[in-house]
Amino acid sequence: MDFKVYDSPTRYLFKSSKKNEAHLVDLLARDMIGECSCEHYQFKLLPALEAAPRAERAEQSAKFRCKHILTARNAVTDIFLCALKATSEINEQ
Ligand SMILES: [Zn+2]
Repeated sequence: MDFKVYDSPTRYLFKSSKKNEAHLVDLLARDMIGECSCEHYQFKLLPALEAAPRAERAEQSAKFRCKHILTARNAVTDIFLCALKATSEINEQ
């Protein structure tokens, strides 16, 4: 998927492959479950999230995330793991 950092390290812009449109992902929104402007999120996942009890939101947060949110979270995890790896390499010296 084609995406880049938008206006902060927790907000990403995805170019849609089929249509000439873009989706904005905010990873910190909704208690870090995240938010996306794509149709799947806006019309399926967000209504389900808003209807879910608070405990279910926290325990099953992944099921309320669209492919854009999951992809962005994965990219952020990779960056964070690289930083942790670099930190542990420094500590080993
Ligand atoms: Zn999305």
